[in-house]
Amino acid sequence: MAKIYFTPGPSQLYPTVEQHLQKAVFENIGSISHRSSDFQRIYQSLVENLRELLNIPQDFAILCTSSATEIWERILMNCVDKTEKALFCVNGAFSERFYSFAQTLQKNAIKQEILEGQGFDFEKVQIQEDTKLVAITHNETSTGARSPNTEIHKIKEKYSSTLLAVDIVSSVPIVELDFSLVDIAYFSVQKAFGLPAGLGIWIVNLRCLEKAKELEAKNEVIGTYHSLPNLWKYFTKYQTPETPNVLAIYLLSKVTGDMLNKGISKIRQESKVKAGKIYNFIEKSNFLNPFVENKKYQSETVIVAKTKKKNSEEIITRLDEDDIIIGSGYKNFKTNHIRIANFPTHNLSEIERLLESLSKI
Ligand SMILES: *Cc1c(COP(=O)(O)O)cnc(C)c1O
Repeated sequence: MAKIYFTPGPSQLYPTVEQHLQKAVFENIGSISHRSSDFQRIYQSLVENLRELLNIPQDFAILCTSSATEIWERILMNCVDKTEKALFCVNGAFSERFYSFAQTLQKNAIKQEILEGQGFDFEKVQIQEDTKLVAITHNETSTGARSPNTEIHKIKEKYSSTLLAVDIVSSVPIVELDFSLVDIAYFSVQKAFGLPAGLGIWIVNLRCLEKAKELEAKNEVIGTYHSLPNLWKYFTKYQTPETPNVLAIYLLSKVTGDMLNKGISKIRQESKVKAGKIYNFIEKSNFLNPFVENKKYQSETVIVAKTKKKNSEEIITRLDEDDIIIGSGYKNFKTNHIRIANFPTHNLSEIERLLESLSKI
């Protein structure tokens, strides 16, 4: 049987990627100029599809970068002054990494940290009035802890003067954000969109652009070709400052189109059902326990289980014999966690195949 990847990223490609790749070769996508109207049409179609899929208002730009990691740096250089307070809500390796970038760039970074495997109750997070940036990770891919989106929205309801940046790398397009209460959201494509790696999407509003221009006017370094004002300037023409990953932009425009055809509410509904089946299995299993104990914070898209008695390596190897690839634990949890992605690419029968294979252990 063909291998299937339940790894949290890179993961199984979305089922239509193969046909789009073939068409891309046929249509010479790898050869067209990034200054051509052909490219502008591709970028425009990506922007229109994403706006519709995620309900993104017109005052947000949708910018192409190399990765989510790059976007961390872009946000720090463009959206917060070094004297202003920036708050980082940390509950795992990815949220910690963003915080560490802020320290390296000598920002006034403040960390609110909770234990790994726990989710944030944003009503309880202490935010000082003069905080100018709040950074949160909607879905901590390292632990499988997710914040309910309604909780995220409470931040801006209470502290409207801060900019709010939300990492949706491993929960997009399942998460439903209210963009009237968020200033920045970002993701890379090799997780829940099921595409090859090499493209980061930065969704960012006019308030952030104004902020970047204000920093520039104060002679702060906001970057070169990928400063926010420069990215935005090119975006208005559906272009990018550099020669971008045209193939990845093309593929994302196509896959978002396929998702729109299928219907985002159907995709979200299926996601819930599949996640329910996986958690149900884990709870009944005699060799696994959910790592995130509070159901309210259990991720729907990256499901993490801690192992009892068995080492994760043994479980991973056994599944591999059935051509099923799952993720190990992240860093310190490498040998006693397994991580299972439940992305839109994974259909119900594939989830059943995974659970059947797990049940033989
Ligand atoms: C994978 C991941 C990132 C980094 O993505 P890259 O594409 O490697 O830059 C950031 N945040 C979260 C939550 C992730 O899962």
